[in-house]
Parts: sequence; structure tokens; C-alpha cells
Amino acid sequence: MMSPLEFFRTLPPKTCPECGEHMEEQAESYMLECDRCLSKREEY
Ligand SMILES: [Zn+2]
Repeated sequence: MMSPLEFFRTLPPKTCPECGEHMEEQAESYMLECDRCLSKREEY
């Protein structure tokens, strides 16, 4: 069984596809873009 630490180390860092900024893993993992890009989108 993998330890949680090992599990996170195997994951690639999650980055925003829009701006390439690193995103912290959150419960809202369905969100693909960072907060900044999401708020930008809502303006359109
Ligand atoms: Zn972004």
C-alpha cells in the first residue's frame, strides 16, 4: 500500500492549462483552471 506521501510524489504537478500556473490540489478537483482564469472566464 502506497503512503499518501508517495502517492502525491508520483502525481505530476497540476498546472492551469490557460496560464500554466501551478495549482494546489483541492477538493474542487473538477476545476481545470486556476481561480484567476476561472474568474476571467466569467466576465465573458
Ligand atoms: Zn490560470
